Amino acid sequence: MEQLNIDALRVKPVSPQSHLIDGQYLSASDSGQMKVLSPIDGKVLTTVAKGTAEDMNAAITAARSAFDDKRWAGQPPAARKKILTKWAELIETNALELAVLGVRDNGTEINMAIKAEPGSAAGTIRYYAEALDKVYGEIAPTPGDVLGLIHKEPVGVVGAIIPWNFPLMIGAWKLGPALATGNSVVLKPAETASLSLIRMAELAHEAGLPPGVLNVVTGEGAVVGETMGLSRDVDVLVFTGSGATGRRLLEYSARSNLKRVYLELGGKSPNIVFGDAPDLELAAKTVAMGIFRNSGQVCVAGSRLLVESSIHDEFVAAVGKAAERLRVGDPLDLNSDIGAVNSERQLMQNLGFVDKARVEGGEITTGGTRILEETGGYYMAPTIVTGVTPDATIAQQEVFGPVLTVTAFDDEAEAVRLANSTVYGLAGGVWTSNLSLAHRMIREVRTGVMHVNTYGGADGTVPLGGVGQSGNGHDKSLHALEKYINLKTAWIKL
Ligand code: ADP
Repeated sequence: MEQLNIDALRVKPVSPQSHLIDGQYLSASDSGQMKVLSPIDGKVLTTVAKGTAEDMNAAITAARSAFDDKRWAGQPPAARKKILTKWAELIETNALELAVLGVRDNGTEINMAIKAEPGSAAGTIRYYAEALDKVYGEIAPTPGDVLGLIHKEPVGVVGAIIPWNFPLMIGAWKLGPALATGNSVVLKPAETASLSLIRMAELAHEAGLPPGVLNVVTGEGAVVGETMGLSRDVDVLVFTGSGATGRRLLEYSARSNLKRVYLELGGKSPNIVFGDAPDLELAAKTVAMGIFRNSGQVCVAGSRLLVESSIHDEFVAAVGKAAERLRVGDPLDLNSDIGAVNSERQLMQNLGFVDKARVEGGEITTGGTRILEETGGYYMAPTIVTGVTPDATIAQQEVFGPVLTVTAFDDEAEAVRLANSTVYGLAGGVWTSNLSLAHRMIREVRTGVMHVNTYGGADGTVPLGGVGQSGNGHDKSLHALEKYINLKTAWIKL
């Protein structure tokens, strides 16, 4: 990856974008468009179609027809595998273009985006392409006079609502297993990160995915997202985003056809550092990166540092130093460690949380402010708040910004109590040289993934999903396939 190539791509004009429905580029039914602002400089990058309920319904109808006439599910597994594999290759071939387009739209630092976005998406699509002819039905252990078969059937039409922090990675987490199992999909990107997903969907068509199997409708969550949620023709809804929207989706399901709803919501994940951590210097750097990369806009971000009292001051100073060394700036500059916050709204929300933390008795020891305002973009200094009480707003609510809270603990029992003191349960980390202690923490902390002596980076072979108000269901690994299939029993008298 070279700065020169990035600089060439960053000025490439982006034409106004349409929906992709039944393989056709379509404007909104009322010709509405939404401006796309780049968080890099706050300037208008292009426009995307501002979808209407009619547009969403057209996409759902297209997906239903594609499913019913079996143009995708009816193809031999080897043929579907070939198309998905080709798609993964095209994502790789176009990786830099996809990454730069995505960064111009959402602000993630390119160093991270290139791996986490097209890199991860291609890997995910390939993983499920490879899996699709290796997942078998079952024969039940019945008495000899009957045969019990368990078929795995596609659910039909999947609605996928995607957030703005990692559109390609998270999009692929849904699309890979949904398409591998023969479903049709309607995808709704986030308002502030549609562009790279539209391009990735185009590449799927170039790879040979039949029209109507993957449809993309852009627009406002409250309009097109709601229409999708309330549709009686969507069988499964998969979502990554905020708890507030997750609740709405469950309501939509209850008010319509009881569609299955899988929610990957946020977290307030604890990173727990014991005094016997093997390498405190490395732990401090990793704790910093575990919250500050992508400006904290990572669902598994380790946003609560719980640190043993005996090393509190020394460790917090080390994390502070690591934070101050991080270069925040133009996300398309290879020298930037951290890019822009996705939107002005998000930036203001982050700053509001910091103000509240101060009022509630926290001390801002690092950062706490908007920076680089002269660029017109949305940047925030990595921020550390110490002396945070467990019931403070900043310790309880997800900021989704570059804000780390610090709370001290005296012993293992207190560490567990603090770790489990929020309504969330998505991720966590523990740093210790004591193997038994590490295993006890893995058991005791209520969460979907526990990291030991590292943070983040769990690859596609392992599931990701939350407990409590962090959601239900899993992305990644073969377990993700379960969301997109129905089990059907055949009970046959012999
Ligand atoms: P955030 O507040 O961080 O943007 P959201 O949960 O609102 O998080 O956004 C995640 C996704 O949910 C986006 O694609 C957004 O458009 C969509 N969304 C927002 N509101 C609704 C809604 N009422 N119904 C369906 N989808 C929605």
